[in-house]
Amino acid sequence: MLIESQIQRNKYLKDLTTFKVGGPAQELVLVDTIEMMLDVMQYIRKKKILYMVLGKGSNCLFDDKGFPGLIVLNKINFFQEKGSVFEVGAGFSYSHLGVKTARKGWSGLEFASGIPGTVGGAVYMNAGANGMETKDSLSHVSYIDEEGKLIKKAKKDLTFSYRSSSFHQMQAIIVSAEFALTASKDARARQIEIVKYRAKTQPFGENSAGCIFRNPKIESAGALIEKCGLKGISVGNAKISLKHGNFIINEGDAKSCEIAELISKIQAEVKMQTGCDLEVEIKRVPNE
Ligand SMILES: Cc1cc2nc3c(=O)[nH]c(=O)nc-3n(C[C@H](O)[C@H](O)[C@H](O)COP(=O)(O)OP(=O)(O)OC[C@H]3O[C@@H](n4cnc5c(N)ncnc54)[C@H](O)[C@@H]3O)c2cc1C
Repeated sequence: MLIESQIQRNKYLKDLTTFKVGGPAQELVLVDTIEMMLDVMQYIRKKKILYMVLGKGSNCLFDDKGFPGLIVLNKINFFQEKGSVFEVGAGFSYSHLGVKTARKGWSGLEFASGIPGTVGGAVYMNAGANGMETKDSLSHVSYIDEEGKLIKKAKKDLTFSYRSSSFHQMQAIIVSAEFALTASKDARARQIEIVKYRAKTQPFGENSAGCIFRNPKIESAGALIEKCGLKGISVGNAKISLKHGNFIINEGDAKSCEIAELISKIQAEVKMQTGCDLEVEIKRVPNE
């Protein structure tokens, strides 16, 4: 396929992220098959351009100046069931996967329901909730490496830790993942409870990027921010959620610099009051 003909220019990243923040991407390509992703990697290698894979953009804060390279928008969306093993395209909705598998009576991904990212983003971030993480039921990951090779690896040959994976050290593009689940009569009930709890405790439906900070060992970042009396404070149109201290809400047309300033304010105040250093969890993508 001729990738050049598929390239779109100056698409706004605020329309592709849950924070609704971010200027134009110099180039953007929407990819819906593994074959096309292989071609895109060849294009990247030939042109030697800066690139970034984007799923649902639910963990990203882009600069208002945009992204000076190619955004690879992952829409590889297939779903295959082989007994207790589920192989899904990296662009498949992680939340939908959690609901779909639980409905079928499979346990292991109930926590994914309500996480508004893709399977690829979840593997990259080792997304988790309710004491469970993506790595727990993951069995294999297929990805395209920087040399353009399609590689399939078992979980044991990759590393995963709290909101991190081997993929943070690579420039790879995850194209699919396999999950090995266990049969459970209660999976659907558990998944519904998880979604209900999420709706009660998180600002669902508002423009955010989920938790801004990683949880320090001593206490959750949300609890520390609340203890420091920071809930509800704002910079411009960026505001700390009244429902959950670790969420920043874009209340209107918040600028990336307003969110960045609010992040710095929280870090400084929490450090002063508790001595704790809060580390940013979301992916900040500056324009340099
Ligand atoms: C309301 C809300 C609730 C949330 N709740 C949770 C939660 O409970 N638990 C949790 O862990 N997270 C949560 N998040 C954060 C976010 O949804 C997860 O981190 C999710 O896994 C990100 O997936 P994504 O597709 O949106 O990734 P993106 O934001 O698109 O990308 C995130 C990073 O992953 C990389 N990436 C994405 N796809 C690929 C790929 N195919 N190959 C290689 N790299 C890739 C990107 O380059 C980027 O560095 C929440 C977010 C919101 C807005």
